[in-house]
Amino acid sequence: MKNESSLLLIFLVCLLFLAGCGSNPQVASPEVNRDVIYQVSTYGALSRGIFGAEINFAFLKKQGDFGLGTLEGLDGEMVALDGGFYQVKSDGTVNHIEDEAKSPFAMITFFDNDLETSPSDSFTYSRLTSFLDNLLLSRNIFYAIRVDGDFEYVKTRSVPKQEKPYPALEAALKSQSVFELRNVSGTLVGFWSPTYTGEIDVPGYHFHFITSDRKAGGHVLDFQLRRCVIRIDNTTVLDLELPRLDDFYRANLESK
Ligand SMILES: [Zn+2]
Repeated sequence: MKNESSLLLIFLVCLLFLAGCGSNPQVASPEVNRDVIYQVSTYGALSRGIFGAEINFAFLKKQGDFGLGTLEGLDGEMVALDGGFYQVKSDGTVNHIEDEAKSPFAMITFFDNDLETSPSDSFTYSRLTSFLDNLLLSRNIFYAIRVDGDFEYVKTRSVPKQEKPYPALEAALKSQSVFELRNVSGTLVGFWSPTYTGEIDVPGYHFHFITSDRKAGGHVLDFQLRRCVIRIDNTTVLDLELPRLDDFYRANLESK
């Protein structure tokens, strides 16, 4: 009797093992492709006021440890760095983002160094972008870009939460708060997207900033950088997830 139940157990274990070996495409590979930018919605949708959201941060936190975006209702600027997810609110305060919070637009990746350099120059925003232009392998792929440094000056912005019916981004930005930080150390967290991505992403550079003490930051408007370490992660896969929301379905994303 004991032998019979042992045999039955072995049989059941084998059956479970075989079931697990099926080539079901729904079963995710345990190996995460780290060279993917996971993106929620499009910049074109965000610019037309699609600030509703259905994808939460519990999910987003699994898609990477580095990134930028915003929260439901355009409630501040989002910065993800070293696995921490932060909301820079329009009053300038910085909060850890709860798992239940949702995002209408985000770009997230696992940051890996493909190139690292510590230039001796100091940079303005435009000088840094020219310098970065020469480091990019090609203008036809995506890059996650991390710049840690000491800043003489950083000018950032954040936006107050918008109410429905949501205005277009440009109208919402009229109520933005602008912050001027002086003599801070911190990190520029950003992406470079190819020009051909047009409506999907902000073509070129897009940076958010967070101080080393995680107490201030925002969407970057300008800076004066004293010294820095630049790290670049070459990325060739964009995983674009579109919102399953009526507002998104009905939006006219064809007109300029
Ligand atoms: Zn931004």
